[in-house]
Parts: sequence; structure tokens; C-alpha cells
Amino acid sequence: MADKIPYKIYLEESELPTAWYNVRSDMKNKPAPLLNPGTLEPMKAEELAGVFCDDLIQQELDNETAYFPIPEEILKFYKMYRPSPLVRAYCLEEKLQTPAKIYYKFEGNNTSGSHKLNSAIAQAYYAKKQGLKGVTTETGAGQWGTALSMACAYFGLDCQVYMVKVSYEQKPFRREVMRTYGATVTPSPSTTTEIGKKILAEHPDTTGSLGCAISEAVEAELKQDGYKYVLGSVLNQVLLHQTVIGLETKAALKKYDIHPDIIIGCAGGGSNLGGLVSPFVGDMLRGEDQYRIIAVEPASCPSFTRGRYAYDFCDTGKVCPLAKMYTLGSGFIPSPNHAGGLRYHGMSPILSQLYHDGYMEAVSVEQTAVFDAATQFARVEGILPAPESSHAIRVAIDEALKCKETGEEKTIVFGLTGTGYFDMVAYEKYNNGEMSDYVPTDADLEKSFAELPKVDK
Ligand SMILES: *Cc1c(COP(=O)(O)O)cnc(C)c1O
Repeated sequence: MADKIPYKIYLEESELPTAWYNVRSDMKNKPAPLLNPGTLEPMKAEELAGVFCDDLIQQELDNETAYFPIPEEILKFYKMYRPSPLVRAYCLEEKLQTPAKIYYKFEGNNTSGSHKLNSAIAQAYYAKKQGLKGVTTETGAGQWGTALSMACAYFGLDCQVYMVKVSYEQKPFRREVMRTYGATVTPSPSTTTEIGKKILAEHPDTTGSLGCAISEAVEAELKQDGYKYVLGSVLNQVLLHQTVIGLETKAALKKYDIHPDIIIGCAGGGSNLGGLVSPFVGDMLRGEDQYRIIAVEPASCPSFTRGRYAYDFCDTGKVCPLAKMYTLGSGFIPSPNHAGGLRYHGMSPILSQLYHDGYMEAVSVEQTAVFDAATQFARVEGILPAPESSHAIRVAIDEALKCKETGEEKTIVFGLTGTGYFDMVAYEKYNNGEMSDYVPTDADLEKSFAELPKVDK
């Protein structure tokens, strides 16, 4: 049987998922609701309507509906670049001399270079359906901004992107891809918003953060008619759209009767990991099956492993609703290291609840070890992985090496979220032996925890 499994397991067009799976429908302990920061009461749809699109608010607040049909226009777009391949890493297995069977779901097969397009196209569709002129957003490493500019170009929407300054400077070509798709890109913090000016006054040398760029994008949206704000991770709706990853993975594995023992994903705001694992976690929640699920985060921004499970602001400017999540505090500005897309202070409320309830494990890994794994992977599997994705590679390799010691033939599946072509500054640092491993001290974290809002829920 084993040698019958192809290098790439594809699905036919007719086998593609036609509905997103809402894991909240199977959770006994639902993720905590978003709270209005003024009243500390759960946010109602009407309140969210100032910032988000109507259909997306429905998806955000619905904890009961198990499946949301994917609209035809979105399915059409998905078919251009999906299914993404599920690859058996035969070459890596051989190199590691491990009895483990390793698979990765590769989401880098589209121009944005990551899984982010799965949600970008959905969010742009609903914005268009609502008759909007355009959307505002933030981007960290640039993948979300790129994905959204592609999606907006497709539906003829204006796209305004606030890009974390360190990435804007390190990745000029990402910025140019966005502009090629018609987006406007502003480095954040900027002087185009009040919150940006305030942050610059307090921290003139800041290289920016996602939390800060979110505040600017929300402010920009509120100031313009016909615009809404869209977010590329963390929110329930984003995780919902990303379940196409997990649904395809599950269908592909099923074709060959493969049962994964361990499922691994990198965790920034939690959308790719949540999307990949949701259908499998659903099995666990319904008591039908069992898997080990591992979230991997950078040691420089360790929300799960060292954060608090508490209500916090989603942004530095404290304009967004409060979310209950594993958080390092909204004031936490991570060191300008290179895992750009994993530098968010918080974590998806859905994954936070699942982690809290013991359905997931989490590990943090240091940057140099991540690039060791990235390089090892690139040299045998051919793909130059994104630094974010390489966090998952690190732990997949570590688990495979454990199997080598014990002789266990475990099946490991990990999410390879994207490619690293725009991350060559980071690779250059690594190749020059100049990469550092920054880990925040307990005192750093305590300082930021002290600023958590006092919410008794
Ligand atoms: C954005 C990004 C991530 C992290 O975001 P999540 O919401 O945690 O999935 C991981 N990998 C790549 C390539 C990204 O672009």
C-alpha cells in the first residue's frame, strides 16, 4: 500500500469542498464573544456593522451553523488555484532516515504566495455584494495585503493597505506586487491617521507592528464612505474560510485511507492552523477520532506558550472590540525579527478556547533553528518555504526524528503555508551567520500583561 501513495495527492474539481466547516458548531465550550470595549457587553451585529461587511458579521457571530455553502463566484475563483497539492515528503523522509510518513499541504501555489487568498477572495466578494467602493486593511509580512489586492482587483474594488514599516522597507517587491494589482500601500505607523501620529510621537523609532497597522486601517475605514475594514487572520470568519485547507486535506488523505497521527501548523493569528485542523478537531469534538495537534509559534512572539488567556484589545490603538484569547498584551511590540507573519500579539479566539480545553498542544521555536529546518527542507523538497511555514517544518522534522529513535511509523501532516521568495533578506542574514534568536524576558511580558484591560469574564 505505502508505495502506491503518489508524491502528490490531488482532488478532482468535482471533489473540491463546496461549503466551509464551522468548527464552533461542534464545540461545547464556545469561543468567548467579542466585547464592546465601552460597555463590556457582547458586540451585536449592528455595532460591528460600522467596521465589517454584513455577511461576514453573520459568519463571525454564528456558533451553530455547521456548514456555510461557498458562493458560486468564490468557488469559481478557488478553481483557478485549488485544490492545493498534498505532497508526500518522500525525499525529506529519506534524507532524515525516518520511518515516519510526512505529508505537507502546500498553499504557496498562487501569486500571493500563501493561504491568505482563500479568505481574501471571500471577503472581497462579500464587500462587492454589499455594494462597497473598497476596503482597508493592514499587512505584516505582506502576504495578506498581496492576497487582498489580488482579490480586490478581481472584483473591481479599491484596496488600501497599511503595511508594517519594517516589512515595507525590507520587502519593496511585495509592495510593488500589491501596487501592480492596484492597491495603495502606506507604511505603518504613518502620519495619515491620528493613531499613527500618536504612536509615532510616543515611539519615534518604532518599526511598527500588526496591532498598530490594524488601528490605522480601521481609522481610515471609518473616515471614508463606502469602505469597510477587512482582517486577514484571528477572526472566526477568516478561520472559517480557511477550512478549505483542512477539508481538502481530509478528502485527499481519505482517498488512500491515510490516518494522520500528528497535525502541525504554524500559528500567527491562527487562521491557517485553524483552517487545516478544524475538520479533524471536529472529529475529536464529536468523539469520533483522535489526533495530536501541534501549534508552532516563534519564541520571539509566544502567545500560546507564554501568553495569558484573557480579554484583550486586538489592536494597539484600542479601537477594535475586545477578544478573549491567548495574548501577550496589545502593547507588546515584538522585536523586528523575520517571522513577519507570526508577530501578532494575540491568537484566534477559537483556537484559544480549543487550546485551553486541551485539544491542541503548542511549542515555540527559535529563529535560527527554524531557518536550519527551512534550508534542509528547501534542499530536498525543492520548495523555498516562507519563514512562517518553516516553523511547522521545524517541528515536523523534530517529530520525524523522534520516530527515528523509537522506530514508530507515525503519519505526520503539516501545513506548508507559503513560499519565501520575498524573505531573502532574512535568508541572507541566516546565510551570513548573522541571524539572532530574540526571546522576550519575563519582565518584558509582565510589563505588557500589566496593561491588559480589566474584564471580569
Ligand atoms: C500570514 C501567514 C502565516 C500566519 O498567519 P495565520 O493566520 O496564523 O495562518 C503563516 N504563513 C504564511 C506564509 C503567512 O503568510
